[in-house]
Order: sequence, then C-alpha cells, then structure tokens
Amino acid sequence: MLYQRTIAKDVIVTGIGIHSGKKVTMHLYPAEADTGVQFKRVDIKNSNWMKADALSVGATENNTTIGSGIETIYTVEHLLSVFYGLGINNVKIEIDGPEVPIMDGSGASFVFLLKETGLKILNKSKKFLVVLEKLRVEFEDKWAEIEPHPNLSIESTIVFAHPKIKKQNFRFDFSCENYIEQISRARTFGMLKDVDMLKRKGLIKGGSLDNAIVLDDYNVVNPEGLRFENEFIRHKILDTIGDVSLLGYDIAGKITTYKSGHNVHNLLCRKLLENPSAYEIVSATSLQEEVHNSFALPQAISISH
Ligand SMILES: [Zn+2]
Repeated sequence: MLYQRTIAKDVIVTGIGIHSGKKVTMHLYPAEADTGVQFKRVDIKNSNWMKADALSVGATENNTTIGSGIETIYTVEHLLSVFYGLGINNVKIEIDGPEVPIMDGSGASFVFLLKETGLKILNKSKKFLVVLEKLRVEFEDKWAEIEPHPNLSIESTIVFAHPKIKKQNFRFDFSCENYIEQISRARTFGMLKDVDMLKRKGLIKGGSLDNAIVLDDYNVVNPEGLRFENEFIRHKILDTIGDVSLLGYDIAGKITTYKSGHNVHNLLCRKLLENPSAYEIVSATSLQEEVHNSFALPQAISISH
C-alpha cells in the first residue's frame, strides 16, 4: 500500500450511460506514476486529456460530472470510487461517449474487471493528504465535515421519507478488503415517482431495474430485492469515496456526512483545497518512517494487499 499502482494491462469496458441511455465503450490503459486518472473523449475531434480532479467538477445533479462544454464526462463517481477502493492511482481512459457506463449501478462490475486485469505496483511512493484541521460545509439541511484521523473513515447518515429507507447510518473504515466486501456491491437507487421528472430533465434515459434499485411508494420494485438491508447508505458511501477521491490523494481523515450528495462532497473538497493550513501532503514512505519512530503504523498505510 506504500507505492502507487496502475492496472497491469489495457482493458475495454462497454455498457450504457444511466442518464444518456447511450452505449459507451471505455478503453483503460496503464499509466505512469503521478498521472492520476485522466479521461479523453475519443468521439470528439482533437479533444484533450482531462485530469479528474475536484476543481474540474461541473454540474453535480444526480451524478458527478467533470469538464465543461462538449468535452464533459458524466457519472464518473462509481468508477473513481472503485479505483480508490482498489488502491489504483494512475489510469488513462479513452471514452467514446459523454458518460461512464453504469454497469449494474454499483462498483461490482468494475471491481471484477480490474481484479481480472490485475494491478501493477509502480516505483514511486503514494501520497497521502493528511487532514490537520476540522472543516465543515453546509447546503440547505445537508452537511459534511472532515477532521484529523489516522486513516480514511466515513460515517454517513441519510434520511428518506420512505418505509424501506427511513434513517440509515453507517461507518466505514477504509481498507481494500472492507471496500470490496461492504461497499462495492451497493447499487444506486431512485424513486419511481421521480422517473418522469428526471426523464423530462434528460436524465436517467438508460435507467432500469438492471442498473438501479427502484422504489415505489412502499417497496423495492426489483424482483431480486436488496443486496444488503442497508444498501442505500452503503451506496452513499460508495459515492462519497468516488467524489473525495477527486482530491487526487489517498486520504488520512474522518469524513462525516448528513443527507449529503455529490454537490456537498465537492464543496467539502473545494473547502479543503482553499485552506492549505487544514492539510498536508505526505509521501507514504516518509510517513511510514516518521510514524515508525514514534508509534504504531496507522491503518491507512499498514494494510498489505
Ligand atoms: Zn452513485
């Protein structure tokens, strides 16, 4: 976990965009250390490589979008979440449409694909963003906080006036194993009563029971039911990881969210970046030496895979 990772070889993924309803093919390539995650729209002539970072996030309605104008790419959050979850720092992605495919609405297909593809350890230390001060952002009745903590920990609460959701709270302590087991399989969800409104806005054209949990007024509509009783809050954490991974570093800090969405997650990232005294960037290998001389290794850097 100390060194940066990429994928072992290139791999192609095809699926449909949940909002656009269009078939999309992504070609993922291994990338050098410090590349980060970069996208390129190959369906647009002379398009540029675009680094996925918190400051490149545009609209955040029902998804996280990077870029602007015609080179926009929608719904990057689940793929980015899986990269973070598997400890993958560097990938270049050619995409022939405006949206990352939704697959089954969770991160499970990407986890399966990337485990099959294999990972490669690069000869350069990972960098951690170590949170030094507590910061908070609010939007209407939603909020998020980040504060010092030795490893990434996320505690989220959601509240929905629906009998199958109500109030759900979950605390997730990051490790790759925990991510795969507890978070990666949790699907996105939506209300049947919102479908017409969202379609009128040009969203969820590709949405179906194959790629989302759908709820009517009382129940889950999907015949197979839920993968976890609290699948909804687990998916919120999947989204949060994808959104905060746009900071571009592994994170040593605790994030607490209440009714948050993509916009609040991005506000939190931006607030952190606007407050340089609230964090420091530390290479994982130097962090290990420093910590080794004082006390036990924090979980964030002591996990081996
Ligand atoms: Zn999501």
